[in-house]
Amino acid sequence: MVRRNVGPANTHFSKQHFTNHMTCITTSVFDLFKIGPGPSSSHTIGPMKAAFDFLRQLQQLPAEVAARGQRIEIHLHGSLSATGKGHGTDRAIVGGLLGWQPDSCDPKALLGLLKDPLVSYSVDFQGKTTAINAQNFVFHRGRYDSPHANTMVLNLLDAEGQVLLEHEYYSVGGGFIYRKGERSDAGPECQPTFPYTTMNELKAHLLANNLTLAQVLMANEIALTGRSEKEIEARLDLIINAMHQAVRRGLRTRGVLPGSIRLQRKAPILFQQAKSLVQASDSFLIFLNAYCLAASEENAAGSIVVTAPTSGASGVIPGLTFLMKHHFHYAPRRMREGLLAAAAVGFLVKHNASISGAEMGCMGEIGTASAMGAAMLSYAAGGSIGQVEAAAEIGIEHHLGMTCDPIGGYVQIPCIERNAMGAVKAYNAYLLAMSGNPAMQKISLDNVIKVMKATGRDMSRKYKETSEAGLALSATEC
Ligand code: SF4
Repeated sequence: MVRRNVGPANTHFSKQHFTNHMTCITTSVFDLFKIGPGPSSSHTIGPMKAAFDFLRQLQQLPAEVAARGQRIEIHLHGSLSATGKGHGTDRAIVGGLLGWQPDSCDPKALLGLLKDPLVSYSVDFQGKTTAINAQNFVFHRGRYDSPHANTMVLNLLDAEGQVLLEHEYYSVGGGFIYRKGERSDAGPECQPTFPYTTMNELKAHLLANNLTLAQVLMANEIALTGRSEKEIEARLDLIINAMHQAVRRGLRTRGVLPGSIRLQRKAPILFQQAKSLVQASDSFLIFLNAYCLAASEENAAGSIVVTAPTSGASGVIPGLTFLMKHHFHYAPRRMREGLLAAAAVGFLVKHNASISGAEMGCMGEIGTASAMGAAMLSYAAGGSIGQVEAAAEIGIEHHLGMTCDPIGGYVQIPCIERNAMGAVKAYNAYLLAMSGNPAMQKISLDNVIKVMKATGRDMSRKYKETSEAGLALSATEC
């Protein structure tokens, strides 16, 4: 039983002195934790959603305009052009134009798209059919003059090359997208019960209403999605189950990952090793490494994973929740509440900095996942809100400045091991926070997120998911 120093949920909430509804966090837990194909939320899930949206726009064109449509062109800019090939951006866009969606597409069929350069795919709208293949893509490599680091432009042209329909999309990390002209933080029409933009505001809600963090997150989720508490609990269980399915698949799948690196999967080997060393003091760490590698290798293979908060970082929280379930034997309620605490940290980073490797480097992905994991462990263990905050702060603090330089543009090196490292750091952040006095903590979560944003802004573009520097240039040694 987790004990917390709060009373029952109040029915009369205090909402004074908090952030206004226009700018507050309105992201749903299920937009942060999304089920979809790997290997990248910003380069795979986001582009698929954008292409699906473009298909819907095509389907709404006036019939006479649609009839003139001859060719679809897709322009990829910035990081999408630099690492889009390795991340499967082109395949994801073809899938979206075929009407596929991340949460329901067949990952094997997705991997098969564009394999044969001679094969074209039919895009149907308004009784019109147009063919699409690799020739329809333009990778604007080396050009970084777009409004966002992950920009894509989709257009429909007539026989003379005149544009009939054009939309510009930005993939801002974690599978979130927005269209040119929209607000990047545009949320649903409905508003949260407890509006906040910072950890300080969130803590003030807990104090003013004598509620737990999980209760506040749950009340907001109900208000934002219109779902009942029972439905939200069921969906949280579904998300945890999907995470664990990825871990289990990865633990039993051997072989080489897709791509030119020919990287051997390692999770099953580590898992066997951990089982054989079960009495040894370091078996616990080997188990955790195996779980994180398993989900990350599944992500690299393009299988179904859960963004947490991104696909590149989809091994950290699944690995930790697998540990919580199978080693700590936590009850489902405790797992769910831990996940809600993790979501709160993810929301704060997404809102006040970014969870995109193309904007923040890897500190935005693995750093955020590690902080979320540290908060989750602390909360599930019964930590106070001060300890949860300290755990998340420590998690981010020790990832500041971490670059994103994936070899060959594949989400493999350093990404897979980095998930295991992020989970181990999360665990240590949890231990440090739980044994410390939060009142003595010198740096707040809000402050470290500000530092993260400033560090990401100052980081050279070469280290932000472009594969133009760092480890990416050591590919010949692999
Ligand atoms: S280095 Fe980090 S941010 Fe970059 S692709 Fe890999 S996991 Fe994502």
